[in-house]
Amino acid sequence: MEAGTLKISEDKLIHATACHDEIRCVAAVTTSLVGEATQRHQTSPTVSAALGRSLTAGLLLSTMLKDVERLTLIFQCHGPLGGITVDADAQGNVRGYVKNPSVDLPLNDQKKFDVSGLVGEGMLYVIREGGYYEMGVYQDAYRGSVPIVSGEIAEDIAYYLSTSEQIPSAVSLGVYIMPDGDASYRVAGAGGFMVQILPGASDGVVTMLEETIRDLPSVTTMIREGQEPREILRSALGGHDFTILEEKPVQFRCSCSYERAVHIISAIDVGELKTMLLEDGGAEMVCHYCSSAYRIDRDTLAAIIEREGE
Ligand code: ZN
Repeated sequence: MEAGTLKISEDKLIHATACHDEIRCVAAVTTSLVGEATQRHQTSPTVSAALGRSLTAGLLLSTMLKDVERLTLIFQCHGPLGGITVDADAQGNVRGYVKNPSVDLPLNDQKKFDVSGLVGEGMLYVIREGGYYEMGVYQDAYRGSVPIVSGEIAEDIAYYLSTSEQIPSAVSLGVYIMPDGDASYRVAGAGGFMVQILPGASDGVVTMLEETIRDLPSVTTMIREGQEPREILRSALGGHDFTILEEKPVQFRCSCSYERAVHIISAIDVGELKTMLLEDGGAEMVCHYCSSAYRIDRDTLAAIIEREGE
């Protein structure tokens, strides 16, 4: 840590209600998990900002899930980054990737990362699925979608919430990136908050929130000052009291494994597997979500071919 800088909060999320349940609010610090995602996927600085904001958004929205549900955010877009997919659960686990991690653009007119330039036009899909499959109970997935209105991620999530879910929401997301050596950089702060107006909220509460949020420093400024999610919420609510519903650690975590890789390889056409065995002496599976590579060796692949070829 550099001299004079404050210690940045650990990755954490807080979920609360305020103003006699007229407001629902969530704040998260995600610096480490965004840093891990950018390392895993070797993202350019602007892609890091786009992916980091999306991972944080996934976690903020995951507080609207029931225990066993999962949430997937998909930016299906035509800009250079080619698409963003983020998957979060109700336990604070999130994973995600972009299609083209190494593309980049110069800073925009405000000297900020040109995230909207990389995202471009397209659609935002939000899918909420029940996790009952393992017990044989099937529940239809909920799917909502809106056009991408800004490409800066936070505005798109807010537009989705107000349009598709009819919950007026303020969403702020940020990723702060610092140079770290010659051609390298690191994530020095990431996180966000979301404040939602619930049905029946008074005009006074809405006006108070609008004024408070308009005058706030950026969320990355608060995080780089060492603020915890709890303090970010206090700022976003203009000092109003809030009741904490949950407070938990959040992390980048993928559910892939060697066993799942073998399972997927087993589903490939046997003829293709034989070619892999001859030409590559085995097979390799790379997980899109976390970039982990699984090497299926010659003997294992031969055994799969023998089993599947029958
Ligand atoms: Zn994975």
